Amino acid sequence: MEDVLNNPLFDAFANASDNVYIYVCDVKKDLSRWSPNAISYFDLPGEYFVNAGDVWGERIHPEDREIYFKDISAVFSGEKENHSCQYRAMNRYGKYVWLECKGTMTRDKNGELETFAGIMTRLDRQNKYDTLTGLLTKYEFYEQSLCKGSGVVMLLGVDRFRNVINTYGYYYGDELLTTLAKRLQALCRDGIKAFRFNGDEFILLLPGADKAEAHEIFTGIRNAARSIETKDGKKIELSISAGAVVYGNEKTDKDEIVNRLELALSYVKKINKGNIEFYSDEIDEKQRRLMTIKEDLKYSIEHDFKGFELYFQPLVDARGTRILGCEALLRWKGEHIKDAGPMDFIPILEEDSGINLVGRWVMRQAVKQQKEWQEKFGNFKVNFNVSYGQFLEEGYVEDLVSTTKEYGVSPDNLVLELTESNNVESPESLALIFEQIRSHGFHIALDDFGTGYASMELLKKLPADEIKIEHTFVRELANGDFHQVDFAIIESLLYLCKKVNNSVVVEGVETKAVDDIIRTMGADYLQGYYYSKPVCKTEFEKMLIENFKSHTVDIG
Ligand code: C2E
Ligand code: CA
Repeated sequence: MEDVLNNPLFDAFANASDNVYIYVCDVKKDLSRWSPNAISYFDLPGEYFVNAGDVWGERIHPEDREIYFKDISAVFSGEKENHSCQYRAMNRYGKYVWLECKGTMTRDKNGELETFAGIMTRLDRQNKYDTLTGLLTKYEFYEQSLCKGSGVVMLLGVDRFRNVINTYGYYYGDELLTTLAKRLQALCRDGIKAFRFNGDEFILLLPGADKAEAHEIFTGIRNAARSIETKDGKKIELSISAGAVVYGNEKTDKDEIVNRLELALSYVKKINKGNIEFYSDEIDEKQRRLMTIKEDLKYSIEHDFKGFELYFQPLVDARGTRILGCEALLRWKGEHIKDAGPMDFIPILEEDSGINLVGRWVMRQAVKQQKEWQEKFGNFKVNFNVSYGQFLEEGYVEDLVSTTKEYGVSPDNLVLELTESNNVESPESLALIFEQIRSHGFHIALDDFGTGYASMELLKKLPADEIKIEHTFVRELANGDFHQVDFAIIESLLYLCKKVNNSVVVEGVETKAVDDIIRTMGADYLQGYYYSKPVCKTEFEKMLIENFKSHTVDIG
C-alpha cells in the first residue's frame, strides 16, 4: 500500500501548478498524503496524516460543510465512486478561497475500498486577462516568479472611488478605470507588469526596482491620474494612493505580499491619501489599531451610536464679545479604543457608509440642540460638519428638511460646513445640491478655506454663505517672521469674501495678540482656543449662561 502514497507520479503531479492541490488516501489505514503547496497554503498538519476527512472538513466554510460531507460520505460508504463539489476553504491567512474538488475511489481485487485520490483546483485563478481593462488578472500575479533578485510590488487604489461613481455614474467609472489601466500599461517595459486587482485597485510589479524608483514611478502615475479626459470631454481628477512591498531575500510568498500590500494601502488611504506607503512592522501595528477602531465604530453605530457625543466650540462676534453660535464637533469613545480623535475616526467612517449614518445622527443632535438653546437664549446659530460624500447621499436633503420641521427649528439658524473641500470631485453636481439646501433657507459654509488652489475654484463654482479661514494662517499671526504674509493673505481673503457677500469666520485664534490683530480686519465671527476649546454640552451651556448674563441689561 505504501506504493500508493509514495508513487513517483504523485511527486510529479504535486509540483505541476500553484493553483492545483493533490491528495491521495490509503482508505484502509485512513492515512493520506497531500502535495506540499496544499500543506503550506492550508496549514495542514503535515505531509501524511490520518482522518483527513475531518481535518479538511474543519477548513471548509461552515455554510459549505454540509455539501462536502454529504458528497464525501457517499463516496466512502461505497454509494458512488466519484467525489465532485465546489466549496470555500480557509487558507492559512484566514481567508476563504473557492475550490473545485474532484476525487475518485478505487477498490481492491475483493471489491473493498482501497485508494481515494483527487485534485483540488482554485476557482478564483482562471482568467488570464481582465475583461474591462485588458490588463492581466490578479490570478496571473500569483503565477509570477519572484524568486530571482528583488524588486517592488505596488498596490494602487483610487481614493474615494465610490464618490466618483456617485458623482458621474458607473459608465464613467468604467471609462476612468480603463484609461488608468492604459496609462499603467504604458509603463510596462523592462519587465514591469500591471495587473487588475479588485475593483479600482491595480498591482504593479517592478522587478529590480528599489524604493526610490518605485516612488518616482508612483509620482508619475499620480500625476497622470490628475488629468483624465473622458470621451465626451469631461475633465476628471483622480487621486491615487499606493501600498508597496519590497520583495526578495526569501520574501517571495505572494499571499503574504498581497496581505501586506492590502494593509499598507488601507493604511495610507486612511492616514495620507494620495501617497505611497511601504509596508513595515510599524504600519502593521498602526493598521491593527485602525482596524480595532473600525470594529469599535461598527459596534457603536449598531448600538444606537453609543460612545458618540457632540462637543461645542463658540463662534464669537468679531465686533463684540457675544457668543453668536457654535460649531458642533464630533467626539467618540469606542469599546476598546478610548482616545481616538476625529482625525483618526472620521477618515475611517468616510471609507464606507459609516459617515452617512453617523452624519445623520450628528445632524439630528445639532438640530435638537439648536432648538433647546434657541428657547433658552434666543437667536443662536449651530454649525455642523458635513463631508462631501454625505451631501451626495440620496435622501440627505429630505432628511435635513424633515428633521428641522420635526423640531420646529428655523433653517436660518443652521449652517452646514463642507469639510475637506479640496476633495470635491465635481463642484458642478455639488453646486446643484447646495442650491437645493439653500432654497430651504439653510446656510452653507466652506471649511478650511485658503488651503490649496481648489479653494478659489470652489468659491467661483459653489454657492456658499460663509467662508471659514483655515487656522494655519491665523495661529502664527502674532509671532514669527512671516506674519506679514499671513496678514496679507487673511486681508485679501476677507476682501474677496466680502466682495461676493460671504460672511467670514476666522478659525484658530489662540492668543490675545492674534485676537487684537484679527479684530481690526472686519471678519464676522471668530473661533479658537482663545475663547474656548470645544467642550461638552453642560460646559458649553455654563459658558452661554455667563455670556448671556453679561450681555443682558439689568433693569431690576
Ligand atoms: P474642522 O471642521 O476644521 O474643525 C476645527 C478643528 O480645529 C477642531 O478639531 C477644533 O477642535 C480645532 N480648533 C479649534 N480652535 C482651534 C485653535 O485655536 N487652534 C487649533 N490648533 N485648533 C483649533 P477637531 O474637533 O479635532 O475636529 C477635527 C476635524 O474633524 C474637523 O475639522 C472636521 O473636519 C472633522 N469633524 C469633526 N466633527 C465632524 C462631524 O460631525 N462630521 C464630519 N464629517 N467631520 C467632522
Ligand atoms: Ca468645521
